[in-house]
Amino acid sequence: MSTATFIFLGRLNDFLPRDRKDQPIEVTFRGRQSLKHLAESLGVPHPEIGRVEVNGLNSALSAITQNGDRATLHPLPDGCPFDPPRFLLDCHLGRLTSYLRMLGFDCLYRNDYTDKGIAASLESDKRILLTRDRRLLMRKSVVYGYCLRSLNSRQQLLEVVRRFELAGRVTPFHRCLRCNHPLEPVDKSMIIDRLEPLTKRYFDEFHLCPACGQIYWKGSHYEQMTKLLEEIRG
Ligand SMILES: [Zn+2]
Repeated sequence: MSTATFIFLGRLNDFLPRDRKDQPIEVTFRGRQSLKHLAESLGVPHPEIGRVEVNGLNSALSAITQNGDRATLHPLPDGCPFDPPRFLLDCHLGRLTSYLRMLGFDCLYRNDYTDKGIAASLESDKRILLTRDRRLLMRKSVVYGYCLRSLNSRQQLLEVVRRFELAGRVTPFHRCLRCNHPLEPVDKSMIIDRLEPLTKRYFDEFHLCPACGQIYWKGSHYEQMTKLLEEIRG
């Protein structure tokens, strides 16, 4: 039997039970175990972990844990791991998907995603997984991911904006809320037959989704979007 001590810093404590937060945790284990495996056995998913130190020296999550090791695990700092940010959301996050698309962010989402399907999709497509399911985040194919702490979709949006520093990257009226395709400006005369009488009368600027045909104008989601932007900037 071997023993190692784990110290989780900052927001990594969100994954620990109350009586284990903010204190060294002793782990006993047999055989060859990576730091990653032991950290995840304590409930902390690897995509949330940044810098790793063992006995005061820089190390890596893939390192094999030695008897007597003292491992300090830092959370990943805020910021986006690649540019532009691209997300994949698990099947319970429809509303958060709409909010993020409303702000112009590329978000893959299907309400029939299986865990296996998500894992396979991440292998071929570099995206940040957003989920509340930490077991899903622990899958090997997940490189970039974030576990949403809140159940409330507005709060979740604020979490994502903060964690990936998105506030300065917002581009409203850029992406279709229904299908994620980038929108294009369209001349009113091209779509006038499809507009309701009041929309026809009061609005002159329109965007069209070339993939699914949805039309957008400043009346449709504009107020909701303006509120979101205010919340984010606040
Ligand atoms: Zn569309």
